[in-house]
This record gives sequence, structure tokens and C-alpha cells, in this order.
Amino acid sequence: MLENIRIVLVNTSHTGNIGSVARAMKTMGLSQLVLVDPVTKPDSQASALAAGATDVLHGAAIVDSLAEAIADCGLVIGTSARNRTLDWPLLEPRGAAAKLLEESPRYPVALVFGRESSGLTNDELQQCNFHVHIPANPDYSSLNLAMAVQALSYEIRMQWLEGQALNVKGQALNADSSINPIDYPRADDLERFFVHLEQTLGETGFIIKQHPGQVMAKLRRLFARARPEEAELNILRGMLTSIDKKIR
Ligand code: SAH
Repeated sequence: MLENIRIVLVNTSHTGNIGSVARAMKTMGLSQLVLVDPVTKPDSQASALAAGATDVLHGAAIVDSLAEAIADCGLVIGTSARNRTLDWPLLEPRGAAAKLLEESPRYPVALVFGRESSGLTNDELQQCNFHVHIPANPDYSSLNLAMAVQALSYEIRMQWLEGQALNVKGQALNADSSINPIDYPRADDLERFFVHLEQTLGETGFIIKQHPGQVMAKLRRLFARARPEEAELNILRGMLTSIDKKIR
């Protein structure tokens, strides 16, 4: 379960923060760290702050884009220091931890953290199924990056421990979801659907290519809310293909 939970840091400036994140993760039993385009690659400062967690630090994958970091994930949760910036499906930290644990037995899941200076961009936030906000002091709600990772990883660990205790007692943790698990599409499949949707709507003339406006952002939000299952996404793609055939 925990091996399938990926911590993704986007465009981090301070290598010390990357080290502190590795330490925060390891204390909570997490090990999968992905760095998207870090400003500086992990250096001695990162190792110093990672302390005994240099294995997590050295095991970190470095990729160019968020899309690459989450391509194979069936669940992506983006963090936001501000409340409801984009009005996306929003989870409490406990709800986010529960979802990550519920789905991580089936596929990789990701928790995405933003830049120290400016967080995640709207475009990055729109690649997530859900957002999570730590309900900190509304007058000062921005935690240090590694502390935000620590707080959310702690929630994951607490619920994971609860699950372990229930398993020892012989009770299933998520009885309903484990009997009939829903398969959600991976992030790259969903992304291909959005590209196809935009293309088809461009060809029908619904989206005017020179003035696309906010249509795609609104549609992404609609599909984030609906969270189509894999089979439903196939129907939607089939619908687009039938439209493509008709207009060509
Ligand atoms: N000035 C930035 C804050 C970035 S803090 C902004 O306004 O967006 C760096 C990162 O730490 C954030 O991108 C987020 O990943 C995490 N973080 C900080 N405070 C948080 C909070 N209250 N809830 C969730 N994540 C938080």
C-alpha cells in the first residue's frame, strides 16, 4: 500500500527542502519520491537535511514534467496552500489520506506539492483528480513545503496503522471497495481523452481555436467532479471517434 504512494515535488527551489521532505516521508513509512524539474538537483545540503533518509533522497526519480511524474497514477491529489483556488473537488487531509490508502493497492497514487514561492500553477492543479488543503490559520495558511509533506504523510500513516490493527482483528478495512473495486483511468489516459475532446470540439467549431476561452478548464473540472471510470472513459472516447468519423 505505502509503496504505491508517490510524493511529487514540482520545481522545488531549495535543496534543503527536498532533503527535509525525504526525512518527513521516511519517518512515516513512505519511500517513493519524484522530483519534477527541481531548480537545483539534490546536493550536500539536501543530504544533510535528509539525515537518515538519504536512501529515499537518492532513490528519487527526476523528471521534466508533472504529466510524466503522474502518467501511471490512477489517483492524483494536488495540494494547495490557499483554500478553493479553482473550486476543484476538495478533500480534507483525512479524506485525502483515506482515498490514497483505499486506491493504492490497485495502482500508483500521487500527492503533488508545489513551489515554495508560488505553489502549483492552475494548469498543474487541473491535472489532479482532487485538491487537498491543510486547514491552517486562514490569516497565515502557507506551511513550509516539508512540513506540509509531514502533516499529510502523518495522516496517511495514522490511517494505515488503523487499517493494520483492523486486519489483525480479521476485519476488512474497506469492505465495500475491496469487494467491488472501481478501476479509474490512469492520468495519461485521461490526458489523452482531454486532447481528443479538445481536438474534436475544435473540428466541430464548438471551440474556436484562436479564442479557446475557459471551455477546456471547465470541462476538466466537470470530469474531475464526475471522475469517470475506465469503462466510462472508453464510452466517451468512442463517442468522440463517432463524431470524428461523421465530420470527416
Ligand atoms: N505561496 C505559495 C505557498 C507555497 S507553500 C502559494 O500561495 O501557493 C509550498 C507548498 O507547500 C504548496 O505548494 C503546497 O504543496 C504545500 N502547502 C503549504 N501549505 C499548505 C496547506 N495549508 N495545505 C496544503 N498544502 C500546503
